[in-house]
Amino acid sequence: MSESMSPGQDWMGLDLFAPSDEHEMLAQTLRAFVEQEVEPQAAGSDRAESFNRALFKKAGDLGLLGVTIPEAYGGAGLDAVAAVQLYEALSTSDPGFGLAVLAHSVLFAHNLAINGSDEQCRRFLPKAVSGESVAGMCMTEPEAGTDVLAMRTRAERDGDDWVIDGVKTYITNGGVNDTTLGDVFIVYARTGEKSLSAFLVEKEMAGFRLGQKWMDKLGMRSSFTAELVFDGVRVPHANLMGSEGEGVGHMMRNLEIERLTLAAQGLGIAQRSLRVMVDYAKERQSFGQPLQMFGQIQRYIAETFSEYRAARSYVYDTARRHSFVEGGQRVDADATKLLASQVAKRAADAAIQVLGGAGYMGEYVVERLWRDAKLLEIGGGTLEAHQKNITKDLARDASLLD
Ligand SMILES: Cc1cc2nc3c(=O)[nH]c(=O)nc-3n(C[C@H](O)[C@H](O)[C@H](O)COP(=O)(O)OP(=O)(O)OC[C@H]3O[C@@H](n4cnc5c(N)ncnc54)[C@H](O)[C@@H]3O)c2cc1C
Repeated sequence: MSESMSPGQDWMGLDLFAPSDEHEMLAQTLRAFVEQEVEPQAAGSDRAESFNRALFKKAGDLGLLGVTIPEAYGGAGLDAVAAVQLYEALSTSDPGFGLAVLAHSVLFAHNLAINGSDEQCRRFLPKAVSGESVAGMCMTEPEAGTDVLAMRTRAERDGDDWVIDGVKTYITNGGVNDTTLGDVFIVYARTGEKSLSAFLVEKEMAGFRLGQKWMDKLGMRSSFTAELVFDGVRVPHANLMGSEGEGVGHMMRNLEIERLTLAAQGLGIAQRSLRVMVDYAKERQSFGQPLQMFGQIQRYIAETFSEYRAARSYVYDTARRHSFVEGGQRVDADATKLLASQVAKRAADAAIQVLGGAGYMGEYVVERLWRDAKLLEIGGGTLEAHQKNITKDLARDASLLD
């Protein structure tokens, strides 16, 4: 037995879900924020289909929008485990608000922190971390979703500027309300036959406007989803993120943390669904006994619990090994999201079944979680995209199975 494997060593006591004092402190902050601030507005924001800008600012004031952003730019400088803690916690209450935070903090801020220049980070990140600005990322187009490299949005160099033309759609935080654009976006555009580049596009830029607002969404209704139109938008060269042609690399690198944090949203949904069904099955009487005495109900609860615990361990373990700069967890990022998104949907579905008619009613929360869970099987990569990527990666590198 090696030194590091002797009984009683540190790793035996490792808490995978809060491995350090900083993670434990974050967990406490999250518990209080979710209970006192997020939960009281969650059902109302879903019903009104509105993004809660004031709550978003409060999250910024508490440092929750900059968890993984370096301290030099106002963030907490924490790791992927902390990011996973954040999205799991928010999604026990309001996954839609969690998605808005994720689009801002992971798809925009984290992406910029890893791939942007120091000057760009200084210009945009402090305001993003404090919640003064609302940001997002634009990859998807009406004609190019899963097949993202087929995108048509183009950027042409013109002197010291780039001129962007195209349309992006389903953009989270595209607007903050019906009339107001989000403040700043990372926009991927074609800069050559085979090359993509990423640009920082600001709301004041001429030719940039809010297109169709996607109302009446199935779930994630407390996040704002919009089409964004780029009509000859003139962007200074200083707003090119990284170098020309690096867009695909930026996109792929950021997808790992995007998928891990979306998987964490699935954990939050599963966790809350379990709590609701366990409590209900204890209290609700049928045929003179609490529901929890019936084998078929026990099956819903026990199977959800074991799936949740397995998915949770997998997500946190992948986060523990994730390096922001080097990546390297591509297959696990796909696989954790493939698993956790389906676990979340099954958990919410099981909870509705255990609650019967009550589960179908908004008051009991799980119908909202069921609607929210579906997005995780589509956004940030569909189930089919994950299946394709995983199979390709395993065929290419058999050591992934070791
Ligand atoms: C609420 C919401 C928020 C979003 N936020 C953002 C955002 O902030 N920024 C952003 O850029 N995008 C965002 N998206 C877009 C999201 O990432 C895309 O919807 C997703 O990538 C799928 O693309 P698509 O909708 O065009 O579907 P398509 O790509 O048209 O896919 C349709 C179906 O065909 C399947 N399919 C496609 N190709 C294949 C294939 N080769 N093999 C097998 N099956 C295939 C898909 O899996 C899917 O089942 C958001 C979407 C939603 C719904």
